[in-house]
Amino acid sequence: MDMIRIFCPATVSNLSCGYDVLGLALEQVGEEMIIRKASDDQLTIRQTEGPEIPLDPAKNVAGVAARSLLDHLGIKEGFEIEIAKRIKPGSGIGSSAASASGAVWGINQLLGAPLSTMELLPHAMTGEAIASNAWHADNVAPCLLGGFVLIRSYDPLDVIQLSFPNDLALTIIHPHIEIKTAEARTLIGDKILLKNAVAQWGNLGGLIAGLASGDHDLISRSLVDHLAEPKRKHLIPGYDEMKSVALAAGALGFGISGSGPSVFALCKGMKKAEEVGEKLAASFSPLNIAFDLHCSRIHTEGIRIIP
Ligand code: ADP
Repeated sequence: MDMIRIFCPATVSNLSCGYDVLGLALEQVGEEMIIRKASDDQLTIRQTEGPEIPLDPAKNVAGVAARSLLDHLGIKEGFEIEIAKRIKPGSGIGSSAASASGAVWGINQLLGAPLSTMELLPHAMTGEAIASNAWHADNVAPCLLGGFVLIRSYDPLDVIQLSFPNDLALTIIHPHIEIKTAEARTLIGDKILLKNAVAQWGNLGGLIAGLASGDHDLISRSLVDHLAEPKRKHLIPGYDEMKSVALAAGALGFGISGSGPSVFALCKGMKKAEEVGEKLAASFSPLNIAFDLHCSRIHTEGIRIIP
């Protein structure tokens, strides 16, 4: 095999109570990559569609992730990475993570899969780190593995694939404003009040228990964010109004996707996600800020080959 064409899912991370430790993959939203073996030992990046991203392999997360993998394996081969950038960079739904994960997954396949998908994670994270100035796996892990994942530990890396009810669906609103991930991270600071920490880990446990037992009420009660939402929501115009609209329309929960500006509503069933999406769009439209609306189930597969 000299060439591979893959679908790399968009991802929603944090999920209210899981700052840096929870993420899920979307089924209907993602981007395509084609990776080819090169005749020389160079890494090259080409972009066929979407907003401009750096094409220098040292500045593109796909190039940095690929280099990390190839150096680890001691392989001198070159690859051409072609990206159809359908997830807008800086959207908060894992644009950079999709490219970093796709590069390592695709190259690993072309090399005959010397590493497991789990073993690819640190290399995807190395690529992702240049976009966000942080070592985090809550987008690359669900992108690579699919489903709903928990990063139980970063040192050593321990990623758990969670059980979840198969009727969950999400609505995402991506307002076309810019929030720099690195800046949004500094808003959080490095201290948390004990009473907030207690509330946060109570909710995180509750969410995971609710996902495992299919208890939608418990999932809903647990989708509360005492850490990032209070410090970041002012960056997203209309946030409080959208949250009230989503919850009144029957969403299980509403929060910021990653560091924003995208917001998500988690719903029971695709029909409910679409209904909530319509109401959110009606609530956001008067602000006269362009936005994208996505409705999607959770993607259980992770990255997959497009035949
Ligand atoms: P997102 O949460 O959507 O992934 P980030 O803010 O984390 O957004 O990352 C976007 C930043 O990463 C932009 O500055 C973009 O130029 C840079 N970048 C580098 N390579 C890529 C890539 N292949 N895809 C998307 N963004 C990239």
